[in-house]
Amino acid sequence: MIVVASANGRVGIKAAIEVMKKGGSPIDAVEAGIRLVESNLEDHSVGKGGLPNLAGEVELDASIMDGDTLAAGAVGAVHGFEHPISIARRVMEELPHVFLVGPGAERFAKEMGFEPTDLLTPEAKEIWARGFVDSDFYSAPERVRYLERMRKLAAMAKDPEKAHGTVNFIALDDHGHMACGVSTSGWAWKYPGRLGDSPVIGAGNYCDSRYGGAACTGRGEMAIRAATAHSVVMYLKAGLGIQEAGIRAMNDLEDLVDEYFGGMNIVALDRHGEPAAFSDNPNATFVYMTGDMDEPVEKPRTYVELKPTRR
Ligand code: ASP
Repeated sequence: MIVVASANGRVGIKAAIEVMKKGGSPIDAVEAGIRLVESNLEDHSVGKGGLPNLAGEVELDASIMDGDTLAAGAVGAVHGFEHPISIARRVMEELPHVFLVGPGAERFAKEMGFEPTDLLTPEAKEIWARGFVDSDFYSAPERVRYLERMRKLAAMAKDPEKAHGTVNFIALDDHGHMACGVSTSGWAWKYPGRLGDSPVIGAGNYCDSRYGGAACTGRGEMAIRAATAHSVVMYLKAGLGIQEAGIRAMNDLEDLVDEYFGGMNIVALDRHGEPAAFSDNPNATFVYMTGDMDEPVEKPRTYVELKPTRR
């Protein structure tokens, strides 16, 4: 058995392995691991403590997928609930739907008995407020439209350290069952209602136990347009090895004509339990842990330089 995660998944990866050791499913493992990241107040990209949107509200997105049945559940733009990954799981299990957003997702969460909570921490609020100053948001002339001012924030958000982050988990048990999950507070200062790739099945999250799984962090708009997580799995299905599959999916992003080009990270796992991860940031890492390890290991991702083929 093995669990692969983005580096910020370290706080939950042991719990995820423990769940499977005790006989839990990969879905149980992914949910348990991600819940711990969602509750980590030091992580400003996921769950409680996440950075808010342009209007100062924390808006969470998450998705979960069962690689055996290809069942999936997702929620987007959820306010006031700490564990969107668990709401996504309930969508998958209780409803004949895959994806709920905004007030509908919040109503469903209440019906399922999830406790509402305040997601905005003082520290996240302070980082958010500072962003307006650092990006010169206020110095734009009055006559400049609001959306144009927002572009200043968007430009600052090109820096992954400042505005991006998400958690990815992929779990495989000893019987070949696989599941994957993703949770995020999304692009900081995003326009209210904006959804990234994390809750979009095929974009930020996809697995099929017959081939493998993949999940993304980074600028979700790119992963949506290139269906990046699904591409990795399709390349595996076409017979490529895990390294080549991930590199090909990264290279596909080069075809996007995109003003903010760049900022993409993938974690992947093939059906044999071979982990891999890719990034256009040479310093990016990921973590994984197998059933016979006492501690997770952190490894560099395969660096894939992205050069747009068209401008
Ligand atoms: N992919 C996430 C999104 O676009 C954010 C991130 O991973 O940085 O919402």
